[in-house]
Amino acid sequence: MYDVKGNLREVLGNLPAGVNLVAISKFHPNEYIEAAYAEGQRIFGESHEQELARKVESLPKDIEWHFIGHLQTNKVKYIAPYISMIESVDSLKLLKEINKQAAKHDRVVKVLLELHIAEEETKSGFSFDDCRELLEAGEWRTMEHVQICGIMMMASNTDDEQQIAQEFDAAYAFFKEVKEKYFADDDAFCERSWGMSHDYRIAVKHGSNMVRVGTTIFGPRIY
Ligand SMILES: *Cc1c(COP(=O)(O)O)cnc(C)c1O
Repeated sequence: MYDVKGNLREVLGNLPAGVNLVAISKFHPNEYIEAAYAEGQRIFGESHEQELARKVESLPKDIEWHFIGHLQTNKVKYIAPYISMIESVDSLKLLKEINKQAAKHDRVVKVLLELHIAEEETKSGFSFDDCRELLEAGEWRTMEHVQICGIMMMASNTDDEQQIAQEFDAAYAFFKEVKEKYFADDDAFCERSWGMSHDYRIAVKHGSNMVRVGTTIFGPRIY
């Protein structure tokens, strides 16, 4: 097995105080997750609803599961009973559906608004303006079963560290803008989820307090 425990310790050692690690376990087997769990890791991230359902059933109940992938509205009902945070909210429609399904289970689901800043068209998320529009419209204020906790984004897939840093800075500036405008009195709105295996060290220098690291901990995914 890949040295999950050693890799996990190394990543944790690179994180400044106050930065949380979401261990991205998609496509990795339970034994890898159990190894990280044995080291004390409790937050794991998955991107496919069926795979997540299988893992939730067979792994310790005190794991906090984050959903990080593109989520279709018709899949929300499957994860609503147990998901701790949905990091990839990219439409009002999805937000409303999460609120509706969470209500059925008498839960409040934490969510992040995903921004599209990277240059790749294939990545999802709100533009700055679409996200501003959603917040300004204010319907989210009536949703009692979702709690908007912050911003998530992915940087461009490039070796240009300066560009990556600029994208993180743009996300951080946007976070501060909406924090001041809509969430100034809301302590729960504090999460800045950016940084993956190849760029999390840059991310923590540019405003991130939640990194999502998979490959560096668990090795390459076998699809
Ligand atoms: C897969 C994934 C990650 C982790 O990527 P690694 O390069 O394996 O660290 C982080 N965030 C999202 C949204 C992902 O889909």
